Amino acid sequence: MWTFDSELEQLLETIRQHGLYRKLCRIDSAQGPRIEIGGRKLISFASNDYLGLSSHPTIKEAAIRAVEKFGAGSGAARLLSGSLAPHHELEEALAAFKHTEAALSFSSGYTAASGAICALLDKHDVIVLDKLVHACIVDAAKLSGAKIRVFKHNDLNDLEAILKWANGKRAAGISSVGKNSSTLQIRSPQRVLVVTESVFSMDGDCAPLREIVELKDRYNAWLMVDEAHATGVFGPGGAGLIEELGLTERVEIQMVTLGKALGAAGGAICGSRKLIDLLVNRARSFIYSTAPVPAAAAAAAAAVKLVQSEIGARLRRTLWQRIAELKSEIPDPNSEMSSAIIPVMIGEEARAVQLSIKLFEGGFYIPAVRYPTVPRGKARLRISLTAAHDPQDVVSLSGALKELLGRDIRRENL
Ligand SMILES: *Cc1c(COP(=O)(O)O)cnc(C)c1O
Repeated sequence: MWTFDSELEQLLETIRQHGLYRKLCRIDSAQGPRIEIGGRKLISFASNDYLGLSSHPTIKEAAIRAVEKFGAGSGAARLLSGSLAPHHELEEALAAFKHTEAALSFSSGYTAASGAICALLDKHDVIVLDKLVHACIVDAAKLSGAKIRVFKHNDLNDLEAILKWANGKRAAGISSVGKNSSTLQIRSPQRVLVVTESVFSMDGDCAPLREIVELKDRYNAWLMVDEAHATGVFGPGGAGLIEELGLTERVEIQMVTLGKALGAAGGAICGSRKLIDLLVNRARSFIYSTAPVPAAAAAAAAAVKLVQSEIGARLRRTLWQRIAELKSEIPDPNSEMSSAIIPVMIGEEARAVQLSIKLFEGGFYIPAVRYPTVPRGKARLRISLTAAHDPQDVVSLSGALKELLGRDIRRENL
């Protein structure tokens, strides 16, 4: 007899047998470089709070003031109960930050991706993804019903071949789609959307955005760039890699997460006024979901301002200093461009887990990232650095890594 729980136990057992079983690790302190787990103090290299803003006094103060003025909860979805001022202030701040006409915030980056992609594409369309884009983009692409094509990671030739194919299909399809259009579905025959990340979340490398922009323009496609790990870290004002490369005018859809360098929680889409108006009308994860709590919006808005200030610039300089220090200790022959994410490639899932446990015993919290977050056999220790780490943290970490992995930590070609 298969009971509900016995069936689930079989599934769990399979996960365990593959070395892929995961469980939550309770932390009894705030997130930051120093955390406490079960009474033990550890140095954490696990959070994406790249500038240390989640515990910054200015950001905490903004959240507290918002709770006092607007309450703990947000009541309902914004189209239903009215839209609280902190969300508008956040969106104005984000649009100014990203130099776009407008912005719309969501309760997470995950829902921002699905809201935007499903509002823009349907089964007539093509979505073209970098092989390593985040799971939320893959899920959104599936949900949209568009045809999914995947190009090899950062491979411009592969991307171009797919764009060429899509254009061929487009030319062939013009007569067939246009005809059945009801008044609600007046549209071009086939939309082609390319989606990539500016900084890849598990590899820490950057996309060749300039070249991707050239290609999508040449083939009349649209581009969405997920700046989750570049926001706050790249660009003169901390707005991201798009800003750093001067591409703001040329990217149709910019996606931001508010829970990484911005130290709060949530996600956002930045772009033209028309894009944002369309999302308010069609993004289901926005329309049918209770607004984020006012404290989260206020904290994110304060962070957006802080990131652009002299304080933000100083934090960014500190972060890049830490990155340089760690990279000089564990050089990576394959990447000249770096980010705050530094993976140490291990390969086998069980070994990555074992190393993570050893590091834990030595006082370091560094997650072993495994399938399905990364491909099978490409497990790794994912180190993320923040401006809140001090130089001694980096020295201790590289000492521990060298002791465990040998003096010559060669990160294999990703
Ligand atoms: C974290 C992340 C997201 C999801 O954002 P959440 O706010 O955590 O839901 C999306 N894309 C990338 C690349 C991410 O790393």
